[in-house]
Amino acid sequence: MAYQAEYIWIDGTEPTPLLRSKTKIIADGKTPPVWGFDGSSTNQAPGDKSDCALIPVFSCPDPIRGGDNILVLCEVTNAVDGKPHPTNTRAACVKAQKKFAKHEMIFGIEQEYTLLKLDGTPAGFPDGGYPAPQGPYYCGVGAGRVEARDLIEDHTQACLDAGLMIEGTNAEVMPGQWEFQIGAADAITVSDHLTVARWLLHRLGEDYNLVVSFAAKPMKGDWNGAGAHTNFSTKAMREDTNMKAIKAACEAIGKKVDLHVKNYGHDIESRLTGAHETAPYNKFSYGVSNRGASIRIPWQVERDGKGYAEDRRPNANCDPYTVTRLIVETVCGAAS
Ligand code: ADP
Ligand code: MN
Ligand code: MN
Ligand code: MN
Repeated sequence: MAYQAEYIWIDGTEPTPLLRSKTKIIADGKTPPVWGFDGSSTNQAPGDKSDCALIPVFSCPDPIRGGDNILVLCEVTNAVDGKPHPTNTRAACVKAQKKFAKHEMIFGIEQEYTLLKLDGTPAGFPDGGYPAPQGPYYCGVGAGRVEARDLIEDHTQACLDAGLMIEGTNAEVMPGQWEFQIGAADAITVSDHLTVARWLLHRLGEDYNLVVSFAAKPMKGDWNGAGAHTNFSTKAMREDTNMKAIKAACEAIGKKVDLHVKNYGHDIESRLTGAHETAPYNKFSYGVSNRGASIRIPWQVERDGKGYAEDRRPNANCDPYTVTRLIVETVCGAAS
């Protein structure tokens, strides 16, 4: 029987790209072909040269439509010369991963997000007012403390049904804020799975009239921002038992503070203030168990002398292909 393929891609919206998708009916027994779209409607092309190409790079079962239907994540290329479109950050990540393959780098990304009502206020904020201060919401249970759990349950099951590497979920510090984790896998796998998981969250949010926001600081004031803590390790970091490789990775990243922070998502200065479990965006630090450091080394990693480190700086709205590429290049580049 013919089936539906939902082609998903990342657009050219600034300062933070949006996800787009459209449906192609595929004949029985055929695989999803290269397709195209009107780039002039997605900030990816001028009107007189509007064609962009969609190159399928990752597909998985469609957990919403079920049956033989699939989701197809695509890279965007120029229709004319076939080169990666300027908005296509995945292509560069593939290159970096190949170049430094011997280091066997893996990542786990903690995606935080905020659910908004259609009027733009966070779910869990009363109309025209504020909820009680932060405290009872993180990993909370009970009406008035957690919001929209039905959507989170649906999304988690959808990720599992799609075969994505989802690892867990938790309610976050600000009401209406949640997190899921994807990993641990190589840069491209984790970024592909995260992108499809983000699409599923937006899509399921439609059913609940909830808008998914990845904004770094959706509420000004004494409310936590939303990040995408990026946990990483090389083979040496996982195997050396004297912390040497882990410290060398942190030192290498500390030499390229601006390059990383500038590419960790829009409005990072509003989120990385030094308060609310963050380090200031322009001051680099790393430390064991320190949630006020740029990079945290988990306590059990220090105990074992090996494992991984957590770059706490990437925003919820970061591009995972760019974040993981930079960490691969900086950490492996210094170790090569
Ligand atoms: P926390 O909220 O305490 O910072 P989480 O449990 O939310 O931590 O996330 C931990 C993340 O660390 C997961 O995404 C997991 O995949 C990742 N992780 C664990 N071990 C490694 C490793 N060796 N290399 C890279 N990432 C790792
Ligand atoms: Mn977490
Ligand atoms: Mn968190
Ligand atoms: Mn974390």
